[in-house]
Amino acid sequence: LTRPTSGLEMFTATVAAGADRPMVRYLDTTLTAREIDLFSDDLAQRLIDDGFGPGDRVAVLCQNDPGFVVAVIAAWKAGGTAVPLNPMYTERELAFALVDTGARALVCLDELYSAGAEPIISGGDTDVVTVVLTSADDWRSAPESPSSARMPGAPASDDPALLLYTSGTTGVPKAAVITHGNLTAAAELYRLWTSITADDEVLAITPLFHVTGIVGHLALSLRVGAPLILAHRFDATLLVQAMRDHRPAFIVGAISAIVALVDASDGADDFRSVKWMATGGAPVSAAVASRVTARSGRELSIVYGLTETTSPAIATPIGEVGRVDPESGALSIGVPLAPTRCRIVDDSGRPVGPGVVGEVEIAGPQVSPGYWHDGAVVDGPVDGALHTGDVGFCDSDGWVFLIDRRKDMITTAGYKVWPREVEDVLYRHPAVAEAAVVGVPDDTRGEVVSAFIALESGATATVAQIEAFAATQLAAYKRPRRFTVVTELPKTATGKVLRRELRG
Ligand code: ATP
Repeated sequence: LTRPTSGLEMFTATVAAGADRPMVRYLDTTLTAREIDLFSDDLAQRLIDDGFGPGDRVAVLCQNDPGFVVAVIAAWKAGGTAVPLNPMYTERELAFALVDTGARALVCLDELYSAGAEPIISGGDTDVVTVVLTSADDWRSAPESPSSARMPGAPASDDPALLLYTSGTTGVPKAAVITHGNLTAAAELYRLWTSITADDEVLAITPLFHVTGIVGHLALSLRVGAPLILAHRFDATLLVQAMRDHRPAFIVGAISAIVALVDASDGADDFRSVKWMATGGAPVSAAVASRVTARSGRELSIVYGLTETTSPAIATPIGEVGRVDPESGALSIGVPLAPTRCRIVDDSGRPVGPGVVGEVEIAGPQVSPGYWHDGAVVDGPVDGALHTGDVGFCDSDGWVFLIDRRKDMITTAGYKVWPREVEDVLYRHPAVAEAAVVGVPDDTRGEVVSAFIALESGATATVAQIEAFAATQLAAYKRPRRFTVVTELPKTATGKVLRRELRG
């Protein structure tokens, strides 16, 4: 089997391998590979008729629905780049993204259009020429014949397949340029990691506009021809029903989504078909991972990556139980997925030895060449190695342990405190469902450690008890000075805790 060199080639190979096989399952509709091919031909033709040319950008403002899949493939067929956008964007954020990427077309769920995109497009500040509105009903009957459009040739490996905004947890979001080569490399890493085949199904629990969704769900499913099960938004009950109906083999998503899924299920029986369950995008404490395993009967693997690494870079080797650092109790994020190279480097960029803490540096075929700025690719990695801003260390077998993000470090009375270590301790208390720790400004100490916790439903523990528990596990300077009980932590659409909101 020759390896596809573009996202479009992954799709066409899947169509060639079985045009009548199911490709997308959505609510009560199943679309075959041929139907997706016809729909995307139709849309690509429409774009080309409107003057859309090679290298142009198509913004995609859809939920996890067939419109998203069709729009991305149509963008590639028309020689362009897809720009998936968060459907929860406000008008201001959407206007920024459309102008920033110079999108010439917008494929938009009709209800989202009427809810806010319309004034931006008609306001005339963007380059958007074509607007295509879609709705759930559009996917019931496919166009009858293939399109007659003259499509440009297959995209080259260096052509941008996607412009993907980073989550914006640490500042203003930037659009990472993901080439077709990055995308196919990342899909291949997921394939080799999971050993998934066309006989398995993939359940999408992450928004497709996020890197984990578009790569860990859509690109993986295109790469191997495995049907993709979609629900328009994250609704744990709906997704558990989809699991009962279609018996997926692979699930990857934020830990908050995995926990919600497990909680909405009847336990191990609903997870019977699941061969690989993985979480990524945010730290997971060993305590939460074992709660998930106890309830689902499935080992929870970890995958680590960034938008800039097209998702996967480091992961728990499949079939192995996650490794825990004997000193801190932290769960390892796994080992680099070959051929990914990971180094831990000191402040001057020199690699450090096992057990020594430094910045995580990643190199490999999935690393983005840089960010999109005014039509150019800027701020790419130096010598191919991406400085992630994450701090961690390796053990002597090469398992990687993350300590935290460099930017989240708290300095209190001259001491350095990593929020993750304090959160891991809080998670060990059985009453704690969610925990996040941030530094807040303080006149005398510079910053103080402030904890936000959400309690397990029905838990009767008091804050004083949780505080007393933390005091038995943490040196005085690491102990939270403030505790705030919340019903739920503020998170991005992809389940990352919004620390800047907690800092106030
Ligand atoms: P921005 O760059 O805009 O601030 P972001 O970095 O949160 O946003 P993403 O690319 O979605 O955007 O996230 C990458 C980051 O997520 C990593 O740098 C790391 O801090 C965190 N991360 C990813 N996977 C894991 C994991 N398995 N465990 C812990 N943290 C993880």
